Amino acid sequence: MLEESLYYFNRAADVLDLSETYRKVLQTPVRTVKVEVVTESDSGELLSHIGYRVQHNQARGPMKGGLRFHPTLNEEHATALAGLMTWKTAVVNMPFGGAKGGINCDPAKLSLPELDAITRRFVEGVKDIIGPAVDILAPDVNTNSRVMAWIMDEYSKYHGFSPGVVTGKPLDLFGSEGREEATGRGVLICLEQALADNGQNLDGVSVALQGFGNVGSHAARLIAERGGIVVAVADHLGGVERSDGLDVPELVTYANEHGTVTGFRGGSAFDGPEVITWNADVLIPAALGNVITKDNAGDVRAAIVIEAANGPTTPEGHEILQRRGVTVVPDILANAGGVTVSYFEWAQNIQRFRWDHQRVTQELEKIMLEAYGAVRGVAKEHKVDLRTAAFVLGIRRVARAALARRTFRNPPAIG
Ligand code: NAD
Repeated sequence: MLEESLYYFNRAADVLDLSETYRKVLQTPVRTVKVEVVTESDSGELLSHIGYRVQHNQARGPMKGGLRFHPTLNEEHATALAGLMTWKTAVVNMPFGGAKGGINCDPAKLSLPELDAITRRFVEGVKDIIGPAVDILAPDVNTNSRVMAWIMDEYSKYHGFSPGVVTGKPLDLFGSEGREEATGRGVLICLEQALADNGQNLDGVSVALQGFGNVGSHAARLIAERGGIVVAVADHLGGVERSDGLDVPELVTYANEHGTVTGFRGGSAFDGPEVITWNADVLIPAALGNVITKDNAGDVRAAIVIEAANGPTTPEGHEILQRRGVTVVPDILANAGGVTVSYFEWAQNIQRFRWDHQRVTQELEKIMLEAYGAVRGVAKEHKVDLRTAAFVLGIRRVARAALARRTFRNPPAIG
């Protein structure tokens, strides 16, 4: 993960002609914290976990990023993800830096009271280095609005009422309207822009999706509402296809009831991984990382790939898609709708104010369109692909902000 994000970082840093030293400055986190999380199990046994918070960059504002619960989480992984948050918040021009963290626990083996205790013990360990003006946490792998509510509650014990310390909270506890569908809506906006660049609109365009969770299901629903034809959907158990279009609202209802799209009667079953090379105009990976690789990128049939998941394409896969002329809208732009509405949630929290769904949607659309336009502009200016352009835009914004905050005798050049 660190290797892949470094690869993309360095390609953009070459375009910007950044010196080796300044690259190192921009890559190095401002602070990495590792805390021991000792709690008790329901039966009174001692539980020991390690929590991480990597605060990557704060040149453009308080740091922002998810908190995940995963047994394999380590410092290197958290560092790579924190860096990506820095570039992502800059691409959508949020007044935030980037961070990431988590606890190396396996929530499948823990009860809710055990998870609650682990979360609170972690907050106790980081309470003085997070906060609405310093570092704002959010849901990530295996964490959700309930965990965010625990964090807000625990942090507020030390610092007073502080809803702005986390986003992705329940609506009953100062969460934002429109947050749940935000990433899917951002995916829709990016897809419509990519089509518009080819003089097309969504009408009759066929779409295949990998992943039908929060991001995939909302993206599919919104795409179908705008005239797109969702011809194939796969999840962790398998896929379902229908060449004249699946009934997406029915599939959403089915998947919510059964926890999978497999077994849905409104289409035929297929082997899940085949979705990557499906015969469709558009491919939307919305599940896992590293699914478009050197082994299958040559067989991708879609002309447009919208990266809803984080890191779905390996560097080798990326190069093959570029050579074949496939338009790839990169993750740090395509899935930035989530962090954008997280910003709206934070802004509402610190103003003690609420926006309705319509306002959230309008503001999200404005920001995503601006970001897409800016990335498209950099791609044209430097004659590079959209991924390199998004990294160039993000890194350039961060590098310029960082330089504007201090006076150096020999300021590093930014191309
Ligand atoms: P989710 O847990 O709600 O859904 C994940 C989906 O992926 C499920 O349908 C699951 O069945 C499917 N999946 C899991 N393993 C699979 C496999 N081996 N093959 C095919 N499908 C598989 O997660 P989500 O919130 O929808 O996130 C999806 C992706 O989007 C992740 O990469 C996440 O990091 C990224 N992302 C999410 C958000 C957000 O706001 N939720 C924001 C930015 C990026």
